[in-house]
Amino acid sequence: MLFQVAFCLAMMKYDQPLFRPPSESNSLLIQITLGCSHNKCIFCGMYQTKKFKVKTLEEITSDIADAKKYYERSLEVPTKAFFCDGDAMAAPFELILATMEIIKKEFPMITRFSIYASALNIIRKDQTQLHLMKQAGLSLCYIGLESGSDEVLQLIKKGNTKEEIILACNRLSDGKIKISLIALLGIGGVGHSLLHAKETAEAVTKIAPEFLSFLTVTVVPHTALDVLIRKNKFSVLSHKELLMEMQAIIEAIELKDKRIIFRANHVSNNFPLAGVLAKDKEKMLGVIRRWIEECPDNTYPDLDYRCL
Ligand code: SF4
Repeated sequence: MLFQVAFCLAMMKYDQPLFRPPSESNSLLIQITLGCSHNKCIFCGMYQTKKFKVKTLEEITSDIADAKKYYERSLEVPTKAFFCDGDAMAAPFELILATMEIIKKEFPMITRFSIYASALNIIRKDQTQLHLMKQAGLSLCYIGLESGSDEVLQLIKKGNTKEEIILACNRLSDGKIKISLIALLGIGGVGHSLLHAKETAEAVTKIAPEFLSFLTVTVVPHTALDVLIRKNKFSVLSHKELLMEMQAIIEAIELKDKRIIFRANHVSNNFPLAGVLAKDKEKMLGVIRRWIEECPDNTYPDLDYRCL
């Protein structure tokens, strides 16, 4: 996953850097883990400075008490909470459940929770645990698909297969927990672009998440991807090629009755797009076609992209 926004709320202490999805800007942010339990994806620099740790319930309770003091002095009243860091679902089920109960007691307005999760730490929870978390208010999981191609997933050291992420998402859907899936444009490089597009569309079709976001891969200095590029072992896509990849994925997503809220308007996307699939599919493809026609062949995203 590659998400924007490192920030700090005055009076609340966070272990920086802190990331959250754009749609969680008004949520109470609670770090139940620090860092990422995987921390090996070649494009990701988010948690390179952090050693993975699950916080204790005492530490989390103290953070919630600080948050309560902060919000008592604020005009804002959060109605939902978001659990960080990178894959907070790696925390034990009992800890996640206990945290939700404490938050609901201290912030009675909060009834909905969302969380960063990976395929493997969802699969490690059983269906009863997912059901109990849903009952307690867990409504949404943010999951980095990145690519639907096993070849690309291996290349980027994602740590899970396409089948594992589809299984994890099916388990969430069975538990009525919504899914916000993130795919990364350009993550297969020029060599894997067609495969990445075809298999990402297949995975999205099988998962049919409630929300789908495209981010564009950006090269964070000192990551393994940065090193590959410097050694000419990974060819980044031009703007035109990225547009063609986006077009190929959207074209190949097939939905029957499901509706997906689609966004490609993250700061990393040079060509922002948003709509509802499948309703707006043809309209969005028309926009992409025009962009492709107008786009020069040899322009590239800024490689020295330091902060998302
Ligand atoms: S799973 Fe990969 S992309 Fe997500 S936070 Fe961990 S290292 Fe970064």
